Amino acid sequence: MSEVFDLEACANNIRIVLVNTSHPGNIGAAARAMKNMGLSKITLVDPEDFPSPVAMGRAVSAADILENAVVTKTLEEAVSGCGLVIGASARIRSIPWPLISPPQCAKQAVDDSVQNEVALVFGREDSGLTNEELQLCHFHVNIPADEKLSSLNLAAAVMVISYEVRQELLRRQAEGQPIAKPAEEEIAEGVEWDVPKATGNQVESFYEHLEQVMVDLNFHDPDNPRLLMLRMRRLFGRIRPDQMEVSVLRGFLAHIDMLNERATRGISVEQQRQEKRDAKLQKDL
Ligand code: SAH
Repeated sequence: MSEVFDLEACANNIRIVLVNTSHPGNIGAAARAMKNMGLSKITLVDPEDFPSPVAMGRAVSAADILENAVVTKTLEEAVSGCGLVIGASARIRSIPWPLISPPQCAKQAVDDSVQNEVALVFGREDSGLTNEELQLCHFHVNIPADEKLSSLNLAAAVMVISYEVRQELLRRQAEGQPIAKPAEEEIAEGVEWDVPKATGNQVESFYEHLEQVMVDLNFHDPDNPRLLMLRMRRLFGRIRPDQMEVSVLRGFLAHIDMLNERATRGISVEQQRQEKRDAKLQKDL
């Protein structure tokens, strides 16, 4: 890891994700706000009208950001390589989720950007982000606007968050630190961590595996889910396991799979091993 804080490298690891934007003008204005604040990576999830001359017109000198925009069908796809996902939400939702302020969001994003890809996610102009989309985020960030009109224009919200990120990047650069030294009472998580955080798709595969094992063991009834997977997502989202930890958990689940198979089929360890060897042989032929 470089000893000098590399502002550009960190900024390049932070992407702004706009979900299902309806007005191309907002996409252009968001790109302009990003460029003002030194961010350049934009991902558009299922935009209603893009590419668009209106977006280009509003972007002015930030047209290059739009030319390099990544377009995906789903938010899952957009954040699949990210170790940290923060969703901007105008409303406080019914299910409490770790909620942070814009400066905390900037600090977390910059901390992580040293080692991980980071996504800052913004919702639709009319309805924001769905609960399912918000559940893909480790944190929610809320801009404490006046309650008489707490919902900002999309590009204005991108500007506020990008501005905070910029302040944090500049602060780190001025301090010349590779990464912030944690205050003693702060948790050192994410700071000089030895293994990168698990990415979006690694964590999603883990949730799928976990759910399947819980269903197989009759611990979880998908027809009567009682928010179980949601709580699991919140638990692991709070912990933010690294890649090694997720791979240990996957190995542990695979072991439970094997035990469960032996128990339900009444076969021995040796029989199971032999079946696996035979199946591998069959595959390799
Ligand atoms: N009417 C929508 C708001 C949409 S504004 C709603 O109630 O959810 C479009 C997007 O801008 C939001 O999805 C959010 O990502 C961002 N945004 C707007 N105001 C915000 C605020 N006060 N705090 C955080 N994000 C905000």
